[in-house]
Formats: sequence, structure tokens, C-alpha cells
Amino acid sequence: MSRCFSEGFYKAIFEGCSDAIYVIDPCSSRILDANTYACKDLGMSRERLLQHSVLSLQQGVENAEHWEKIAELIYGSHPQAFTFIGRHYHQNGSFFPVEVYTSIIEFEGQKLFLSIARNLNRTSSQREEFRANDARLTYALNEAADGLWDWNIDTGEVFFSPQLNRLLGYLPDQMAPTVDTWANAIHEADRERVMAALKAHIDGQTASYEAEYQLRKRDGQYIWVRDRGRVCQRNVEGDAVRVVGMCHDISCSKQMEEMLRLQASHDHLTGLLNRRAGYIHFEKQLSYVQRYHQDLTVCLIDLDHFKQVNDTYGHLVGDIVLKHFVTLMNATLRRSDSLMRWGGEEFLLLLPNTDMNSAVQLITQLKEKLNRTPVDMEVEGGKITYTFSAGLSCYPVHSTNLGGLIKFADDALYQAKGDGRDLIMISA
Ligand code: GH3
Ligand code: MG
Ligand code: MG
Repeated sequence: MSRCFSEGFYKAIFEGCSDAIYVIDPCSSRILDANTYACKDLGMSRERLLQHSVLSLQQGVENAEHWEKIAELIYGSHPQAFTFIGRHYHQNGSFFPVEVYTSIIEFEGQKLFLSIARNLNRTSSQREEFRANDARLTYALNEAADGLWDWNIDTGEVFFSPQLNRLLGYLPDQMAPTVDTWANAIHEADRERVMAALKAHIDGQTASYEAEYQLRKRDGQYIWVRDRGRVCQRNVEGDAVRVVGMCHDISCSKQMEEMLRLQASHDHLTGLLNRRAGYIHFEKQLSYVQRYHQDLTVCLIDLDHFKQVNDTYGHLVGDIVLKHFVTLMNATLRRSDSLMRWGGEEFLLLLPNTDMNSAVQLITQLKEKLNRTPVDMEVEGGKITYTFSAGLSCYPVHSTNLGGLIKFADDALYQAKGDGRDLIMISA
């Protein structure tokens, strides 16, 4: 059902239009009416404008005869609008490009021309702005370090930006645009956690999705990424239909993090766990053997007369001796055993699932092996040889806690030193 609008309504449309509108008398070319945009474009008041004809505002329309020819063209193209690109004068003498659509209207039995003139300077400035925005978008997609993705949940389709393709070693648009492409590339160890984080956001439990995980590249190598995204569209039921996000390569900072973590927990010279990390490891080992009702033998080892090694051959040779000892031990110990650097030339050895007798046997073998394998370095009088003393305590016989076990082992070591060194001593 059509509705009858008032004259004011049509006037509002006339004035509200963002292009210049002119009502022209086809015979005289006089301007009968014009809207606010027309006055603005031409820099004239409405009163002044209505004293003009189209001849005076349009460059290239010379005289009445010329106007007649144009009018003929307008009549000829009826019922379609006659379109031409021309130039309109501004009051200040400048002119600007216009695209003019002229059609014929009938009002109270009289034929009139209705011209809509679009100021092309205005649209081109909009276009420039759009182009600038477009350039920013192109930059974000292609040049910025982040890879962009745009997931349509309903279809399962994902747009992967060229940069994201590049990040994973693909040529532009080489990644199959599906959510499975991405899900399958997530490292198995991370997949469940990442999916849970994404689901929580899609279900509206979190304000955004964020995850750090390893993503497989085309060549099979993994990179670390920080991935952030957000639902940008939901349907009327409130279900997420589109999620957009950014994926950033953080491999370098992860490597740095890992290096710092290693440095903080490991001894630089021997690569063993340091005392601080050793305590944490010891706690874990202890709770493990407690849970599985196993024995755990704790062995404190100290190299004998090590100061003499340093004093005789120098500190650097002392370092070589320390490394020699660790290499020899590591080659003999089981995977479940752990050797830690407890202090200068002092080491803590944990032997899980090992009772005292087996531990003594093992340490004795180590001593024999050390006797047979001197440091591969010629010094005056042959090769460097050295010995060590060891103090042992056993869980749960001597103590059930870490502090107690260390103290008993330390006491035994002290006794071994006192009894002449190169000895294995069991806690009393
Ligand atoms: P003992 O048999 O009683 O244990 O005598 P020792 O000489 O081994 O013991 P002492 O505690 O007197 O000396 C330990 C030496 O170990 C002193 C220290 O300079 C040296 N040391 C500690 N850490 C390092 C290291 O990283 N490199 C080298 N080269 N020497 C170290
Ligand atoms: Mg010593
Ligand atoms: Mg010592």
C-alpha cells in the first residue's frame, strides 16, 4: 500500500540529498529551484542562484542555441536520464568537475528538467580517503609482521592473509582455506588447550581468544605463535558466525625465554641442573618414589683434594677435570638417575628405585671406571688422575624428607673425608 507524503517530506528529500539538485526551465534554461548542496557547490545564496540560467554556471555551454541542442539531447534520451561530465563554475572563479544526470519531470502540466549534479571533487576526495584506508589494509595484510585470519564458522572457510601464508612457508593463497588446515598444523601437545581457549571465547565465556602455541610450517618445522582473535559477528540467536584474529611469530622471544630458563636452572660449565633447580627436581623425585613405594638413594659426591688440581695445573685445567667427571658419570648412569651440581666440586646424585646395596655397587663401579679413565691430558708425570668421596643416605630408611636425606648424606660424606677420602660411606 503506498502512502501519501506531504510536500514537506519531499522538500526534506530535496534538501537532504548530498548532491546538487536543479530544477530547470527547458525553454529558457533558467534555474527555477536548487537545493542547499547546489548553493554550497557554487558558493552562492539561493536568491542569487535563482537569478541565473544553466548557461552561466556551466563551462562550455556558450549560448541559447547551444542550450537548445543540449535540451534536444535530454528529450531524446527520455525516459532515461541524460548523463554528461562537465564543469561548474564556483562564485570565486574556480570550477570543479561534475557528473550531471538530467531527466524530465512533469509538474502541473509543464515539462521541467531535473538535474542532479555530483561534485566529482567531493567523491574523489572520498575515494582518496578510501584508497588511503585500503592502503593501510593492504599493508596490514601483506607487510605487517602479523598474519591475519578470518573464519566463517558456518561454512568452515578461513581467509589466511598472504603474510600468514608466508609465515608458514607457503606461497600466497597456497594454504587450503579451511579451519582444518589451521587445526591440523597446531602441535599435538598444544591442540587441546588452544581449541579449548577458542571454544571458551566462541561460547562467550571469555572477552577474547588468546593462545600461545607451536604451529607447523610447510617444511614440517614448528614456530611459536601468539594468536589473538575475537568474534566479530553473531547471528540473531547470539551464536558466533565470524571470528577474526592475528597470528604473531614469537619464536625468537620463546627461544630467548628458553635460553634464560636454561641459564637460570642449569650450571654453565657442566650443563647439569644447578642447586636451585636441583631442589625442585629432588622434591618431584621424592614424591614420585613415595607414591610408588620405591627406595631412593641420595648420594653426595665431592672430588678429593680438588684445590690441589687447581693449584697445580691452573683453574682452566680444574674446569676440564670437572667436565671429565660429569661426562664419565653421565655415560654410566641410567636415564632415571639424576646428577646435579650442588656446589663447586660437589655433586648430588639421586638414584630412584635403588636400595643402599645397589647404590654402593653402582658407585663402586663408577670409582673403578674413573681409575681406568684418567683425564685425557698429558702433564708432567703422566695423565691427571683424581678420586672422589661419597656419602649415602636412603629413603625411607634414613629419612622421609629432603632435608633429612641431604643431612644424612652430608654427614656420611664428612666421615668419608675424615677417614682418608676416596671412600663410599653410608649414613649411620
Ligand atoms: P677435599 O678433599 O677436602 O674436598 O679438598 P678440596 O681441595 O677438594 O676442597 P676445598 O673445599 O678446599 O676446595 C675446593 C676447590 O674447588 C676450591 C675451589 O676453587 C674449587 N672450585 C670450585 N668450583 C670450581 C670450578 O668451577 N672450577 C674450578 N677449576 N675450580 C673450582
Ligand atoms: Mg673437595
Ligand atoms: Mg667441597
